[in-house]
Amino acid sequence: MFHVVIGEFEHETNTFSSKKTDYACFCGREYMEGDSILSYYKGTNSEMGGVVDTLSGQKDIRLWPSVAADAIPAGPVTADMWRRVRDVLAATIAKAGKVDGVLLCLHGAMVTELSEDGEGDLLEEVRALVGPEVPIMATLDLHANITEKMLRCATVLCPYRAYPHSDQRERGIEAAGLMLRTLRGEIRPVMRYAKRPFLLAAIPTAMPAMHKHVQRAAEFEGQSGVLSVSIGHGFFCADIKEAGLTTLCVTNGDADRAQDIAEQLAEGIWQDRAALQRTFYTPEQAIAQAREENLRPVVFADVADNPGGGSTGDGTHLLRAMLKAGVRDAAVALICDPESVDAAFAAGAGSTVSLRLGGKQCPEVLGEPIECQAYVKSLHDGRYVNDGPMSGGLAVDLQGSAVVVVDGIEVIVVRNVTQPYDVQIFRAHGIEPLRRSIVVVKSSVHFRAAFEPLAKKVYDIECPGLMPQNPRAMTYKNLRRPMYPLDEI
Ligand SMILES: [Zn+2]
Repeated sequence: MFHVVIGEFEHETNTFSSKKTDYACFCGREYMEGDSILSYYKGTNSEMGGVVDTLSGQKDIRLWPSVAADAIPAGPVTADMWRRVRDVLAATIAKAGKVDGVLLCLHGAMVTELSEDGEGDLLEEVRALVGPEVPIMATLDLHANITEKMLRCATVLCPYRAYPHSDQRERGIEAAGLMLRTLRGEIRPVMRYAKRPFLLAAIPTAMPAMHKHVQRAAEFEGQSGVLSVSIGHGFFCADIKEAGLTTLCVTNGDADRAQDIAEQLAEGIWQDRAALQRTFYTPEQAIAQAREENLRPVVFADVADNPGGGSTGDGTHLLRAMLKAGVRDAAVALICDPESVDAAFAAGAGSTVSLRLGGKQCPEVLGEPIECQAYVKSLHDGRYVNDGPMSGGLAVDLQGSAVVVVDGIEVIVVRNVTQPYDVQIFRAHGIEPLRRSIVVVKSSVHFRAAFEPLAKKVYDIECPGLMPQNPRAMTYKNLRRPMYPLDEI
């Protein structure tokens, strides 16, 4: 019987956000310990769902679920929170006694109050507890800033390959499969990596300039003896020394081959760096073009106020421009503004209230509150279940929400922010996005997985936000230099 400890600790830390991420923030999204992890994730479109579903049916595996913690991106994770997870993980390893493998679902871009490398520190402690021979495997986000310490302490790392991250479950299955085969003595995985000084902004993997490298990685992976080939884009909103591009290759025992493949892949992306840049609409351009083309529905993506990348989700620039232009028949997901939700609840559905909508957390960047008369259309508990390609089956709790109508635009106002990448956020609020002219989402890329099949057209619109899409718009202090595109190399 092989004893495998499993756990999850995920946070994408935007070091430009001043909001600390503590235990309460994790509880606002996901925090659990012990056996409840197995029933919660079973059958879900998540990496832990893939892990649980692959391993729990195996006769030679005994699973030891430790902790599962996930919080919406924001500023650094508190020391207390990091130690809490470390302690639960260490206690589970101690309780299991003989540990044959450790499988973790991590993000890879966690910064804590203690260090720039939350996952590297965690993997280092786990390695010290289980010893040098026990396989430690981890799934990562595509936006992982993969550090030397993570690479030294883990046996295998499996970052998502798709952006939007529609392959979360697949990566869990991949890591669990590699763990099984390793424990059974069928393979001896060896991981090598290559880095380039390249900060990629939010680059969808379907973008042709990136897609060709995804295909190349798949071709390498198809060769015999190659177990896993992946591209970690890095997370550019983390001002840390080791941010940036890392490619990984895992082979069955052949270190030189793994190194060669990782190098070839990294060099190809590096040579294409000028093509791996995106362009965006201004709100005015998008509104004018949408009017002219008259397609329905279209998506307006507010790419820089993406709560999934650590922005506040209360930015007002795009909504203000739409109101100014007299846009009608539009629905907005979302504005995070607990005060306005409280005011809507106090007034009741069917009444009209004066609101200062949004723009409260960082108005100097994201815009001032919008002073308006709003019709309170409906009030909600803010709970729904995703059913899209990303995190399908997992619950979201907005902790209370309201739909208010301002000059013909429906706005979903929430107490607890989330990245609105699933269509259910609209449907749970009684809004059918297919029957609106314009659907606004605060999301950089993830929304594409669920909304692209529905939309006649997507407009990527950049207004000032805490996730500006051009790294040159940010001031880095800790990042190693030179670094493209901040420096010409
Ligand atoms: Zn990501």
